[in-house]
Amino acid sequence: MKIIDISLPIEEGMVTYPGDAQFSKTPVCTIERSGCNMTKLIFGTHTGTHIDAPFHFLKDGDPINQIPLSHFIGQAQVIEVNEQEINSIVIKKQLRDGVERVLFKTRNSELYKTKTFLKTYTYLTEDGAIFLTEVGIKLVGIDYISIEKFGTPDFKVHKILFQKNICILEGINLSHVAPGIYTLIALPLRFKGLDGSPVRAVLISGYR
Ligand SMILES: [Zn+2]
Repeated sequence: MKIIDISLPIEEGMVTYPGDAQFSKTPVCTIERSGCNMTKLIFGTHTGTHIDAPFHFLKDGDPINQIPLSHFIGQAQVIEVNEQEINSIVIKKQLRDGVERVLFKTRNSELYKTKTFLKTYTYLTEDGAIFLTEVGIKLVGIDYISIEKFGTPDFKVHKILFQKNICILEGINLSHVAPGIYTLIALPLRFKGLDGSPVRAVLISGYR
């Protein structure tokens, strides 16, 4: 059994979506002063590798603490996409029957090396999102901070997925992962009534 970490490190100066909260840390106690280390953190719900819950864009959508944990644990297919857009044709070509979680590995995984947000990332199209709602997907993941084309005013892709209670796993790094079938574990914190949460996301290979 091999455990592959696909999470981004959480640290000051990390890439965030434009306008989102910047991660920061302040010591509350230090070993030198008080005998232990404790830290106060400031960060957004969409920091680093994180899950978007339907409440992110839908007023009556499920918040993160109400999504069944079965969305976040189970078989997942990593699909490699070299195109700029992930549309239904691209997905149809590769998605296996019965898969409930799909993660897209794109050239985005290389963009993390640049420590600033880049607007030219590969994204899921509306017709790609609709296709995923038709084949029983519970969770879709992408290797950048957003799954939606930058600058789209109405966030259609997010809404199409959320209306079918599909969660979005954003900010994974798949640069060191080969396409194929894995077991995914990506558990959000139990934030009551919130729109998302950072996760520690791992893929397990050779385990059924
Ligand atoms: Zn998000």
